[in-house]
Amino acid sequence: MSNPSLLILAGDGIGPEVMAEVKRIIGWFGDKRDLSFDVSEDLVGGAAYDAHGVPLHDDTMAKAQEVDAVLLGAVGGPKYDNLDFSVKPERGLLRLRKEMDLFANLRPAQCFDALADFSSLKKELIAGLDIMIVRELTSGVYFGEPRGIHIEDNMRVGVNTQRYTEAEIERGARAAFDLAMKRDKRVCSMEKANVMESGILWRDVVTEVHADYPEVELSHMYADNGAMQLVRAPKQFDVIYTDNLFGDILSDCAAMLTGSLGMLPSASLGLPMANGRPKAMYEPVHGSAPDITGQGKANPIACILSFAMALRYSFDEGAEADRLEGAIEKVLADGARTGDLMGPEGGTPLSTTQMGDVILAALDDSL
Ligand code: NAD
Repeated sequence: MSNPSLLILAGDGIGPEVMAEVKRIIGWFGDKRDLSFDVSEDLVGGAAYDAHGVPLHDDTMAKAQEVDAVLLGAVGGPKYDNLDFSVKPERGLLRLRKEMDLFANLRPAQCFDALADFSSLKKELIAGLDIMIVRELTSGVYFGEPRGIHIEDNMRVGVNTQRYTEAEIERGARAAFDLAMKRDKRVCSMEKANVMESGILWRDVVTEVHADYPEVELSHMYADNGAMQLVRAPKQFDVIYTDNLFGDILSDCAAMLTGSLGMLPSASLGLPMANGRPKAMYEPVHGSAPDITGQGKANPIACILSFAMALRYSFDEGAEADRLEGAIEKVLADGARTGDLMGPEGGTPLSTTQMGDVILAALDDSL
């Protein structure tokens, strides 16, 4: 059988720097775990604009549709800020999400014990936190029509439309329930059924889909209460399923409970392909960090954890994902820190490559 295929789109700024460490980790799994990938690389964002005049070349889009998973670094930077909207680096990212139809955005909020002091919440509320937010990514108010700004009675009016079909709610719900089956078997669905018809439909459809998942415990919560509960007692949740707008806000809120942007991975999944694997793109939550680009200061962990998600959700290699996450947990417990993770006590931060070195050494120790 041929190796699973990965397309690496490192992008701009610190994207290539953190991705260099991921490539070493991928190599380690090939060498030491007999888990090899056919890796190809291409351009996205500003790098693609510089080469082709577009933030994503059609050939790259076609490759992304063919591979088993895409790993993306980050896009954007000041050099591209004044480009026309249609060719801005972010458009490359949006095109990938849209054309691959990546409707389920998975954002874990996981607290490594060694970093519990980084949270703005009390350590006991956050230590051991492990929740997963599933955000519907391709519909809802960010896409609904009609939209725009028009004039009514000599006044400007801004319009956006929250619109969900039951099929859109259902496929995301299935993704959330499937995930819960691999975790603690609990889903909390969040909407505003008290004031929005789309919320009433959301609640009905999620309840209907739940009938296919009798082992999973389902609860419903209004999204505003969900926001409060996330900062009051986040450990009460396992999987949260919510729409595009609420998910945008709630996932940022949940993620930042855990500290630095340099630690946060994400996955965006679509429908299964012919080989049964979902269409998938994995990427760190952070951007291209122009303020530290080229200085060897970037924390590669968010990008490495994104690869761990790929192992788990695209390649069914949960035990190897555990191994990689365990190696990261170990180096953090041993005190390894990049600059973004330095506490008030100070010390000498590791460079991006040095963090890669210690994680690779911890992987060796895990054998
Ligand atoms: P950013 O995430 O790039 O940086 C915010 C802050 O966090 C900066 O101080 C940065 O140094 C720090 N930071 C981020 N990642 C880090 C890491 N791995 N290690 C250490 N420190 C890290 O957000 P921004 O500054 O608002 O945006 C910069 C550029 O990135 C913009 O062009 C923006 O459009 C783009 N952006 C891209 C994505 C993406 O590719 N998915 C996401 C957000 C922003």
